Amino acid sequence: MSLIVHKYGGTSMGSTERIMNVARRVAKWHAAGHQMVVVPSAMAGETNRLIALAKEIQPQPDPRELDMIAATGEQVSVGLLAMALKTIGVDAVSYAGWQVAVRTDEAYTKARIVSIDDAKVRADLAAGRVVIVTGFQGVDPAGNITTLGRGGSDTSAVAVAAALSAVECLIYTDVDGVYTTDPRIVPEARRLSKITFEEMLEMASLGSKVLQSRSVEFAGKYKVKTRVLSSLTPPDIPVAEEAASGTLITFEEEQMEQAVISGIAFNRDEAKITINNVPDRPGIAYQILGPVAEANVDVDMIIQNAGSSGMTDFSFTTHRNEYDKALAVLNARVKDQVKAGTITGDPKIAKVSVVGIGMKSHVGVASLMFRTLSEEGINIQMISTSEIKISVVIDDKYLELAVRALHKAFGLDVVAAA
Ligand code: ADP
Ligand code: ASP
Ligand code: MG
Repeated sequence: MSLIVHKYGGTSMGSTERIMNVARRVAKWHAAGHQMVVVPSAMAGETNRLIALAKEIQPQPDPRELDMIAATGEQVSVGLLAMALKTIGVDAVSYAGWQVAVRTDEAYTKARIVSIDDAKVRADLAAGRVVIVTGFQGVDPAGNITTLGRGGSDTSAVAVAAALSAVECLIYTDVDGVYTTDPRIVPEARRLSKITFEEMLEMASLGSKVLQSRSVEFAGKYKVKTRVLSSLTPPDIPVAEEAASGTLITFEEEQMEQAVISGIAFNRDEAKITINNVPDRPGIAYQILGPVAEANVDVDMIIQNAGSSGMTDFSFTTHRNEYDKALAVLNARVKDQVKAGTITGDPKIAKVSVVGIGMKSHVGVASLMFRTLSEEGINIQMISTSEIKISVVIDDKYLELAVRALHKAFGLDVVAAA
């Protein structure tokens, strides 16, 4: 008998009918002799609805109260799923994060899981019950409810799997695996049967919302076998067939298909800020970014180009939600202090990244990427690279064109030879 964790996303939990299907699927695994822990998300659209409600009252919602509100979507889901299982004869019990307890730090709206108590869950499993734990939420040391950031139920599930040493964490969603890029943007995108942990981490942190990047970090840190698969198949397909479907995140590089690029990720959530005409002298980056960091604004890409005139332009990107805050800090605490010319910003940018382990041993990836974009007349505003990815910032309006052109140029539309 092995312990398995299932995670079901919002679409998978989107109606009472779908919840009944989730119950049937879980019951099938339970009947096959597995101990089952299930981590559901809120029903589709529910978290957005709750956040919008909060904003009607308070446009910049108080973070503690926002988490109190946003966490309720998952509480409804666990209760409904427990009932659904009971109606088909499976003993089940639901828990909110604080009841387990899933302990986090105090960072409301983007809390990190610190530890998970396993005693209660293990006792229920030993008694033959299916245990259902809320995704997305936890409890801080003072007993306040926290949430883990959008898409955080993935992280809850992988963390629960790690805490219980589950043999596998199955992430059920509305696509049947991880694709070469978002199939909603490129219909020719192909499902990968495997992806390395390193590539998945890059894809997720560069914007592929199929998994929250912290869930991939957990999977890597605790070596949790994680698979992404569809919740929209008939719930009664044989367990063995289901268990081999979707995309497995693997820790072994050599088993991968021999493609140089595995996938293309993109992100529309960032904004660019430029501090123009700053004197080019030691300490300038610190003087600019120090106050930004003190204001808790996360910075992603940074570019500084020293001109021959002794002056430089300094640009960086940040999350669009933090754009106004970053501009305010720069105007109040940086502009005059560093004798900058002007501060300009552009919230309409997009970041496109090509990701692949094969880049480590192949040259020419960057030149093919830049040539493809230039042939489409797309201007590159910023570039950043690591061993297995190249990212560019472009004008938001060219995002879909860029992703499609790159997908084709790197041969990702073509089915790899067996
Ligand atoms: P859930 O509610 O199940 O957590 P999400 O909407 O968070 O589902 O994630 C699934 C979605 O991720 C898919 O519907 C798809 O549009 C998107 N997606 C983005 N990039 C990829 C990719 N590379 N492969 C598969 N899906 C992707
Ligand atoms: N319900 C949360 C969200 O919409 C968490 C999740 O779905 O993973 O972000
Ligand atoms: Mg998700």
